[in-house]
Amino acid sequence: MPHKLDQLHFDNRFVQQLPTDASTGQHPRQVEEACYSPVTPTLVSNPQLIAYAQEVADLFDLTAADCHSDYFTQIFAGNQLAQGMQPYAMCYGGHQFGHWAGQLGDGRAINLGEVLNKKGERWAMQLKGAGLTPYSRTADGLAVLRSSVREFLCSEAMFHLGVPTTRALSLMTTGEQVARDMFYDGNPQWEKGAVVCRVAPSFIRFGSFEIHAARNNVTLLRELVDYTLRTDFPHLGEPSVETYLAWFNEVCIKTAEMVVHWQRVGFVHGVMNTDNMSILGLTIDYGPYGWLDNYDPDWTPNTTDREQRRYRFGNQPQIAGWNLNQLANAIYPLIEQVEPLQQALQLYSKTFIDGYQAMMTEKLGLQVFEPDTDKALQDDLLAVLVLAETDMTIFYRKLANISTGIELSDKQLMAELSEAYYQPEKLTEVIKTQTVLWLRRYINRVQQDKTEDTQRKQAMNLVNPKYVLRNYLAQLAIDKAEQGDNSLVNELLEVLRHPYAEQPEHQTWAEKRPDWARTKAGCSMLSCSS
Ligand code: AMP
Ligand code: MG
Repeated sequence: MPHKLDQLHFDNRFVQQLPTDASTGQHPRQVEEACYSPVTPTLVSNPQLIAYAQEVADLFDLTAADCHSDYFTQIFAGNQLAQGMQPYAMCYGGHQFGHWAGQLGDGRAINLGEVLNKKGERWAMQLKGAGLTPYSRTADGLAVLRSSVREFLCSEAMFHLGVPTTRALSLMTTGEQVARDMFYDGNPQWEKGAVVCRVAPSFIRFGSFEIHAARNNVTLLRELVDYTLRTDFPHLGEPSVETYLAWFNEVCIKTAEMVVHWQRVGFVHGVMNTDNMSILGLTIDYGPYGWLDNYDPDWTPNTTDREQRRYRFGNQPQIAGWNLNQLANAIYPLIEQVEPLQQALQLYSKTFIDGYQAMMTEKLGLQVFEPDTDKALQDDLLAVLVLAETDMTIFYRKLANISTGIELSDKQLMAELSEAYYQPEKLTEVIKTQTVLWLRRYINRVQQDKTEDTQRKQAMNLVNPKYVLRNYLAQLAIDKAEQGDNSLVNELLEVLRHPYAEQPEHQTWAEKRPDWARTKAGCSMLSCSS
């Protein structure tokens, strides 16, 4: 019997329908007049399976036995190609930190092709860290275990939280050593090399369109847009100016929905450059991302962005809008009308604002949004959350426990929330008074809403996760994996499959960030080195 991986139905439309690079080889170069370059993954000496996600394997009807086979390891570390795979790297550009950066491209991502699964779904597979491509510029095309554990776990954690995201099938170490200067201080260290296999319906980014627009190549721009419409947005109909506009409107809506989810769960992407914005509104490219422990809208995990804080938590909605603006500029030559593009950008803002309001209403366990009171209730809560260091995730779970049926004293109210505070001794009388004032307004509002406490708690616990991939948790899993112990990677993968469930046996992984992690690299700040 051939291996299941050799029986997958590959339908590699991207390489079949779009123009290819005229040059060959992996040397760095500008790739003009093409959407991709054929490449082959670099062979590695000793690939080992660290983890895989069964739900992603299920998309391809791969069983646990299939995933534990040596063939699976060889393929998803880049040592072999299964029947039907046609590896290639995509050409794209991007705005990085607000500036046009020219050609970027898949510098260390290698697409293997697109599988049509039994359900008729299209899933592209992509190795990250599998070696040089024409887009590697001065870098090595590789990835280290540290960043690969982070990408693998976070992709799956986000999926189970209900956040649109690319998925991760597998995580392999390669047996190779990779040099990384993590602190950019001239002290590179050898780290274990690793490869993640990412999976998504498409890996096309805003920057995929921007590159052709920047080169004034309207023909290629149109080819790629038409391809995207036919492949990923077939419900919009055959390409025309009207469908281009309908498409851009949909991208605006999907992007808004994605960012609402980020704000709901406390996720900070960290590098919202336009090359890291998926055309499908999926969270993509897990680099120096982070999760809010204490609620702080100004926080960013990315040390490269420490000064400007362009990509801080509270700025993500605005930046997504800015990025959509760049996409609008890129596709303008196909539409040549400013007005409808601007309307779509306004639709982004409206979708975000409405979605955010609805999301906050749900986080608070209210059935309806009462404009007269609830906007202020939501805004004032965010002001209360920054009075003292307050763990965002724990706060909402504790808020769900507060009973509104019986009269509670100020002390009792504060006691309900005590676990959410990082430094309870710093809660001054003023802070306590302001917090209690807000809580009493909230309780009144819930009473008006006429929801039973038990029902409210149930509803709140479906949108306010108990378990998120706190930065220090990922780091604990990494520290062990670097010592050859993969148990915590796999345990966290398992816990994060049910982020809204109580899972009392896993309570440790729901605790707030311990003090040692406050300023530790990887836990509170991350460089782009990966
Ligand atoms: P990022 O900020 O991680 O999205 O990366 C920006 C660009 O740098 C993309 O074109 C990546 O493919 C490329 N890149 C990042 N790391 C590497 C690496 N180790 N080797 C080659 N290219 C890389
Ligand atoms: Mg990227």
